[in-house]
Amino acid sequence: MSDTDTFGNGRPVLLRGGTVLPMDDPRRALTNTDVLVQGDRITAIGPDLTVPPGSAVIDASSGIVIPGMIDTHRHMWQTALRGYGADWTLSQYFVWFFIDHGKHFRPQDIHAGNLLAAAEALDAGVTTTVDWSHGLATTDHAHAAVDALQAVPGRFVLAYGNLHRPAAEWATDPAFRAFLDQRVPRDGMLDLQLAIDLGGDPSFPEKPAFEAARDLGVAVTTHAGVWGTALDRSMTMLHQHGCMRPGTVYVHGSSLGDDSYRRIADTGGYLSISAESEQHAGQGYPPTHAARAHGIPVSLSMDTSVWWSADLFSAMRATLAADRSREHAEGHARGESVTHTTLRAHDVLSWATRGGAAALGRSHDLGTIEVGKKADLVLLKNDDSPVSFPLLNPHGHVVLQAQRSDVHTVLVNGHVAKYRHRLRGIDLRALRDHVENTVEHLRGRLGESEWHKGMNPEVPRAKTIEQSRFGTEQPPTGQ
Ligand SMILES: [Zn+2]
Repeated sequence: MSDTDTFGNGRPVLLRGGTVLPMDDPRRALTNTDVLVQGDRITAIGPDLTVPPGSAVIDASSGIVIPGMIDTHRHMWQTALRGYGADWTLSQYFVWFFIDHGKHFRPQDIHAGNLLAAAEALDAGVTTTVDWSHGLATTDHAHAAVDALQAVPGRFVLAYGNLHRPAAEWATDPAFRAFLDQRVPRDGMLDLQLAIDLGGDPSFPEKPAFEAARDLGVAVTTHAGVWGTALDRSMTMLHQHGCMRPGTVYVHGSSLGDDSYRRIADTGGYLSISAESEQHAGQGYPPTHAARAHGIPVSLSMDTSVWWSADLFSAMRATLAADRSREHAEGHARGESVTHTTLRAHDVLSWATRGGAAALGRSHDLGTIEVGKKADLVLLKNDDSPVSFPLLNPHGHVVLQAQRSDVHTVLVNGHVAKYRHRLRGIDLRALRDHVENTVEHLRGRLGESEWHKGMNPEVPRAKTIEQSRFGTEQPPTGQ
């Protein structure tokens, strides 16, 4: 048996001799261990497994095998603008997408963004992605979104949303229901959530959308605890109306008080923490401390690559750094030194894998490497890299050393989607042309001046770095 790139036709796949992190117990690391995949399932784990006839054998020695990572909140439709908003604040994002230019996205632009995001997710070992799709202006846009998700061999959850219309309107529109019946099979490969944000109206006009989700039997995902919007008052309203239901995913959950966190915990909610996003955009501090204090389960996400990285290695690093930074700062404020940090590397790897599975109601078949579970697996192995050895602390290595270029092999539902560092069955040349068409279209709609202005927001005179450093300016008021 030899390493081969011939997969398919029902051939079993054996990952041979890797260091396997099952994540069933966060600390377990199994060295020199095989993982056998038959059909869409993991069928055996152990040393020196007998290879079934006709198996494709992948040499995992010197590599690390982890469960496929799960991103519980990514605005995939925005991905054709990757990097455009690197210097944005949250309000600049809102103005650009919600007021000025989000309306310019055609169905083919949603398609281009989703296709690019789906490919980059797989490339980075993210096998399940929640497509937080709030740019679905029409059902034609929604068809385009699903066309893209189904063209790439990943596992997705379409979190259907529409920032262009009130939630109560689109979520109760018969055309929306007909679209779901026709296009979203909810079969474990393409599932459904409703993406509903609160606008701050105390009369709770979004309530029919929450009721629609309940009628459909799907979870709601909502941006919550975002500084300036969706704060404690909104959470109280949700609670009073019985809309904080088990399985609801609260994205960010940053700027909330103890009552809100207690309610999220008591009603069976989950957090989707996007640490890079929260730190850059200003929703509030990544709420890992609050999650620990209140026992709220955590998953991780990357939000949007208009600003930030699009891989969960970055998410794990940002989350761990933010948590430790806060722990030290709080210790220093008490005049103490922190001698032992609380959050560990294996904890954030657990959040990136089984935490995501739990948030999506998939703990029974995703998120860990166990016999009988779906074969969503990632092999990290890069023998050409001087960072691939020594492998002393495998969990720490994944979280603080590994990166996208170390993703050697990715399996989703038993299908080999990436092998020897190359995506399989994805035409990157055609994808590039598709994305460039979208960029050209948007740039043309904005005009050169507006396009450059959007990408390079002014630095207000009162907030230059020099002045901020020396504290000579008062913070802006009335915002
Ligand atoms: Zn978001």
